[in-house]
Amino acid sequence: MRHASSTLTAALLILLLVAHAGTLALAHDRAMELSFAWLILAPIAAAGTCFYRVVTRSAEGWLPMGAAMLCWAGGMATTMVATLFLEITSEDRLSMLLYVLYGVPLIFALASPEDERWPVRLLDAALAAALGYLFYEYVSHLSTMSGTQSKNLAALQLMFDIENGYIAVLACLRYLADRGPRRGFFLAAMGYALAYMACAAYINHFEAASQYGGWPDLVIDLPFLLLIWLALTSQNAQVAGSAARPRPFARVVRVGSPLAIPLTLLTVAVLLASFDTRMAITGCIAASVGYGLRTVLMQLQSFAEHDELQELSHVDALTGIPNRRRFDEVLQREWARRDDRPGRLALLMIDIDHFKELNDRFGHSVGDERLRSVALALAECIRRETDLIARHGGEEFAAILSDVDPQGATAIAERMRTSVEGLSLPSGRDLGVVTVSIGVACAHFVDGDLRDFAAQADAALYDAKRNGRNQVVQSAPCLRVVSAAPSARDGRAA
Ligand code: GH3
Ligand code: MG
Ligand code: MG
Repeated sequence: MRHASSTLTAALLILLLVAHAGTLALAHDRAMELSFAWLILAPIAAAGTCFYRVVTRSAEGWLPMGAAMLCWAGGMATTMVATLFLEITSEDRLSMLLYVLYGVPLIFALASPEDERWPVRLLDAALAAALGYLFYEYVSHLSTMSGTQSKNLAALQLMFDIENGYIAVLACLRYLADRGPRRGFFLAAMGYALAYMACAAYINHFEAASQYGGWPDLVIDLPFLLLIWLALTSQNAQVAGSAARPRPFARVVRVGSPLAIPLTLLTVAVLLASFDTRMAITGCIAASVGYGLRTVLMQLQSFAEHDELQELSHVDALTGIPNRRRFDEVLQREWARRDDRPGRLALLMIDIDHFKELNDRFGHSVGDERLRSVALALAECIRRETDLIARHGGEEFAAILSDVDPQGATAIAERMRTSVEGLSLPSGRDLGVVTVSIGVACAHFVDGDLRDFAAQADAALYDAKRNGRNQVVQSAPCLRVVSAAPSARDGRAA
């Protein structure tokens, strides 16, 4: 179906080209007037299809593309008026200007990343506006309202070649790098920009002296007809697997393409230097300062995002409390800082009792809900900023308490145990409520390294489980059960 409609579109567009050719062949003395009509119609139709894409499939980029087409159509309309009514034989300043300015929205659409925040986009737009102004200055120096002198033609041709080249290279890079929903737009932009560059080079270098109304006019139609076809047939579809991390090439293009606007600005400023040094210097300064400012804005944004990510990378997604990574970092830090006084650092390993049964009985989403409730209850027992409660993994939590003696640590562990039990959340066992077992280790009990210290807490937790669960056990050498008798409690609660 899609194939059929794109073939039909292509056939219609070829028919338009044939009709233009027919006009040139048959309407001998009115060929110029009629050809102008075709040459204005083609970019207007291209603008129409771009705007159609804006309203129907809303991929960003089509709007500036449509604006560029209208600019070009305006240039051709001005040429028509100048040629037919004012009898100016070479291109006048206004049409030259419109042909040049047409590139500004195109460069903006291709260079400025659409998902950037508005201050960056605004800066890109300001640089694009400065580029438009420099184009105006340059064209004003080389062309008058009554036409362009042939000695200036070469300079203008060079500028057109550079502008078209920049647009084509940029469009190719964006298409090759993009795997997202704008791929359709970049494909159309690439096809159009390559065709326009080739056709413009042919017309400017080989047919510059030809009058309108001849066969070369058909070449001018080509890029616009191609754009209409691409705009109507190209899809927004993402490439499969594009959600994965972008490839290095894509990243380089994404980061480097905004450079196109200040780079074009610099190029035009350099071209302008032989006519207006002050304006050229102003252009260079605007390009450098603009790009510098843009870099500062991007850096600020990236620092903010980095901090945000850093924060997120330390939080457990399910419970919202610190995660294992944060726990490991804090434990390493506190371990390095522990002093020789006994009981300055305590580690609590906390494990929900019979959690598997709870999952089996109520399902995983209820299990997750219980995990959140337990995490909240445990976090409320931590009152000092220097202490930390984290999700260690699965249904296990861990707490790091600094500046605490063994009695203090055990008291906090006991507070946690009763607090979870006090939630009275139905567990997987008949009439039971959710409970936790806690193993406590204090730094002064351990000579040796951190792994031994953590192993002490694990061993204490294992003892708490073995002794019947729902209890706090402090690690050897002073292993002792500090909560209520396990057998009675386990039977009631776990
Ligand atoms: P014990 O009293 O000996 O600790 O028994 P248990 O059932 O709590 O321990 P076990 O290690 O046998 O089972 C732990 C269960 O925790 C198994 C696993 O499916 C569940 N679990 C781990 N992480 C999550 C999670 O993020 N969400 C849910 N709902 N369950 C989890
Ligand atoms: Mg458990
Ligand atoms: Mg466990």
